[in-house]
Amino acid sequence: MLTTLIYRSLVNPELQQASIHTLVQDALCKNNANNVTGILLYDGAEFFQVLEGEEAVINALFTRIRADLRHHSVVLLMQDYSAYRRFHDTGMRLFDAGSRTVESIIEDIRSLSHFRGNYLQDNRIFRLATAFLVQRGQHTQPAEFSASLWRREGREHFTLSQWPEINPEKPCQFALQPIVEALTGKVSSWEALIRSPSGDSPARMFESVPADRLYRFDLETKAYAFALGRRMLKHNEKLSVNLLPGVLYSEPGAVNTLIKQIDAAGLRPEQVIIEVTETEAITDQDAFYQALKELRIAGTGFAIDDFGSGYSGLALLARFQPDKIKIDRALIEGIHLSGVKQAIVRSITRCCDELGITVVAEGVETMEEWCWLQSIGIHLFQGYLFSRPILNDVGNIQWPVRIASA
Ligand code: C2E
Ligand code: MN
Ligand code: MN
Repeated sequence: MLTTLIYRSLVNPELQQASIHTLVQDALCKNNANNVTGILLYDGAEFFQVLEGEEAVINALFTRIRADLRHHSVVLLMQDYSAYRRFHDTGMRLFDAGSRTVESIIEDIRSLSHFRGNYLQDNRIFRLATAFLVQRGQHTQPAEFSASLWRREGREHFTLSQWPEINPEKPCQFALQPIVEALTGKVSSWEALIRSPSGDSPARMFESVPADRLYRFDLETKAYAFALGRRMLKHNEKLSVNLLPGVLYSEPGAVNTLIKQIDAAGLRPEQVIIEVTETEAITDQDAFYQALKELRIAGTGFAIDDFGSGYSGLALLARFQPDKIKIDRALIEGIHLSGVKQAIVRSITRCCDELGITVVAEGVETMEEWCWLQSIGIHLFQGYLFSRPILNDVGNIQWPVRIASA
């Protein structure tokens, strides 16, 4: 199957001009032999390459490209299937983007290639090339957020282990995971994640609950989360709990019940954030928004969880602006490698900035992901990089610290 793949990357600063020449010549030769066609734009600091060829060949080639130490920050901008080759008789053509105008390069690409104006994909390739040429230099991440400049340092938050053993009679337990402000070393909130009495996952826990009791169960179990929160929240910290949206619109008096539970646990509503996932379709919109109003009036916080992965993200946001949006891990995983995820997350962040909504990046596992997210102005993070959820307890949090420069 014919594939088109486009990426950009940054030339390794140690690389001499002559080795770049060799690199490019090598690549051009190999591409010819593998029947890979396309264009390579190079401006002295950055590469932008369009590769077209058989899917398996292109994938294998891109794996090698990613591993090549002569450049770094290889970001995939597009991978798609193609009706035809645009560059079938140019082979792989190099353009020196450093010394020419954007228009003249685009004009050259147009005349060299076999773009058939009516294909939308052609348009996309042009626009990506143009955007690269226009935005030259802007892709460089701020030097301070290069992953190699950071390490993690574990610091004990405090431990609950001296507290009473779990009562096995309880229908459930909770694990706690911090949402951290990475650069200041502050915990912004703790998320209470449900576990079965034997410590199994939420999915396992909910499997054992009859379908017609699910919402009630979800609601009632929050009392245990608040009780746990009461024992461990420090001054400004908050507790986040998850609810299926159905709890809010089909359990009569749900908000009232929550407020009573919060009060009974000795917490204040401002210390609690209700997270609602959008993984379940909201069938009674009006009742749902009514419940959100009640939560507002009661004074708890509200967050849209797993934003970008589920049913109603933007429509929900258009109708009701939460305090917080938690960007789903699917968009965060490997973000430093994907131009598509970067564009989406950057615009979610910009949108939230404009609306005064706090953004949390969920499921951050690597320093590279964190560096990228921090560099675009996200401050709050949740993920294994900082801490895994711990059953009935909080543990050491791993904080990113700058490696002192020599
Ligand atoms: P969630 O609310 O998005 O919670 C985050 C989930 O991501 C947790 O899974 C957490 O363990 C996991 N996670 C955190 N950091 C990372 C990371 O760096 N990498 C990866 N791969 N995963 C990470 P968990 O505890 O299995 O919970 C799964 C989901 O179950 C939760 O997703 C939430 O939607 C739901 N859930 C948990 N507790 C409750 C509850 O009391 N009620 C309801 N309705 N749903 C709950
Ligand atoms: Mn959640
Ligand atoms: Mn989530």
